[in-house]
Amino acid sequence: MTKHIFVTGGVVSSLGKGLNSASIGMLLESRGLKVGMQKFDPYVNVDPGTMSPFEHGEVYVTEDGAETDLDLGHYERFTNAEMNKCSNYTTGSIYYSVITKERRGEYLGKTIQVIPHITNEIKAAIRSTLSDDVDVVITEIGGITGDIESHPFVEAIRQFGQEIGRKNVLYIHLTLVPYLRAADEIKTKPTQHSVGMLRQLGIQPDIIICRTEKTLNNDIIDKIALFCNMDRDSIIEEQDVKTIIYEIPLILKDQGLDKIIIDKLHLADDKKIDSTTKYNERIYQWLSMINAFKTPTAEVQIAVVGKYIEHQSSYESIYESLIHGGIANRVKVIVKRIESEDVEKQSAEELLRGCCGILVPGGFGERGIGGKIETVRFARENKIPFFGLCLGLHCAVIEFAINVCGFNNANSTEFDVNTPDPVISLLEEQRHIEFKGGTMRLGAHPCKLMSGTSAYNAYNQELISERHRHRYEFNNEYKDILEEKGLVCSGVSPDGKLVEIVEIKDHPWFVAVQFHPEFKSKPTAPHPLFKEFINAARLIK
Ligand code: GLN
Repeated sequence: MTKHIFVTGGVVSSLGKGLNSASIGMLLESRGLKVGMQKFDPYVNVDPGTMSPFEHGEVYVTEDGAETDLDLGHYERFTNAEMNKCSNYTTGSIYYSVITKERRGEYLGKTIQVIPHITNEIKAAIRSTLSDDVDVVITEIGGITGDIESHPFVEAIRQFGQEIGRKNVLYIHLTLVPYLRAADEIKTKPTQHSVGMLRQLGIQPDIIICRTEKTLNNDIIDKIALFCNMDRDSIIEEQDVKTIIYEIPLILKDQGLDKIIIDKLHLADDKKIDSTTKYNERIYQWLSMINAFKTPTAEVQIAVVGKYIEHQSSYESIYESLIHGGIANRVKVIVKRIESEDVEKQSAEELLRGCCGILVPGGFGERGIGGKIETVRFARENKIPFFGLCLGLHCAVIEFAINVCGFNNANSTEFDVNTPDPVISLLEEQRHIEFKGGTMRLGAHPCKLMSGTSAYNAYNQELISERHRHRYEFNNEYKDILEEKGLVCSGVSPDGKLVEIVEIKDHPWFVAVQFHPEFKSKPTAPHPLFKEFINAARLIK
């Protein structure tokens, strides 16, 4: 029978519930268990697809094309679980489904209420992740316990535990145990209140993970255990990691969290699991990855020139993939974040000097495009390794059309519908779409690589598959003329209709892709393009 772990958060947001859930998943996998992962977000949007990166951070895209919360990226980077459309639900998507059923007459005669209709829908969403071979599903509840929006989710997970039996469910609560500098004291009261709130809602946590700046002494742990009605072994301390997020599973393992979970969920009863409390192969692989990160042999500075640069989480997967590329090459990657509008105000030379690799990420809308195009020109002319992602490919093609082919007003129709040379434009089927949510070209699509190119050399295979999230495409009417001038379309869809990757000749490494490779990179399996990009940056240094 599949067991369930529900992860809630208390006191403040941004404590790292996603990273902790992912870390727990990784630890359970290291014991030989098959893990499923899922997140509930209490906001009313149906999915984060229409939200600005300033509001929400990165939108993470799954293989099957769901636009989801960025925590799912952590889940896929830390574990082998594959995320899909059932991996992320929001208040909006739950209500949407209930209201659609109501309109279809499926509840005919009934008054639709939060309890039981919304909570039943949430429980059905939990069940939607189940498959026979999954041993444990970890479900993270976004937001903070006590928030108005999260109440139906907390009530649903309470009911779920009641229904499937308490020994099959584990509630883990992540809280903040703050240190007050002025008083030189660690305070447990916020945790007591937060657990009190959870108990009022009918949930007694089984494990508390305490985020803290300082070591928690025995008195503090005893106090939390006493007032939260728990045994002290179930109080886990998690100090802020100093170097890399991938250390979190090891901090948890050092306190035996995987063993505690296995015992509390009786996981060893039904299944042969790796019973070692010590390190095993998976953990050694993880440790060697962290060791490679901590012992670099060189340093490279990579510029990321984007338009949502002030928010770390807007490009979460890209920053992580750059770290993975660094680990693969044993180099330390120092990211210089540059706002593309600043390239318009200052010179590219001034801002990009000293960088040995330049990455232009994806994005939407016209703001900052001039700066991105100028950035591409700088990388192309100065032969600095360049990596363009999605909108980055659009900018690379526009730049090439203007500065190499002499189409002075070339553009994407996203930015200028009347451009005389629409080198990037909408496909016919996208032209008539009225709605914004979920209507882009989304999810995994195959791509065929041309041998002898940088892309082929990175992947070392002909057919690849990568995840997409965009509306605009390379306009094939310009393909011949751009190719004549030296653009190489090194990756195309298998039917040859869509250009997926472009490169240029006579450049150490210039690759721009229509897809988002950053969604498939893992610390222990770095994406080949990120690996080769960092390698190229290392070589020109
Ligand atoms: N705005 C562009 C499009 O819709 C690029 C999208 C992206 O970079 N993800 O096609």
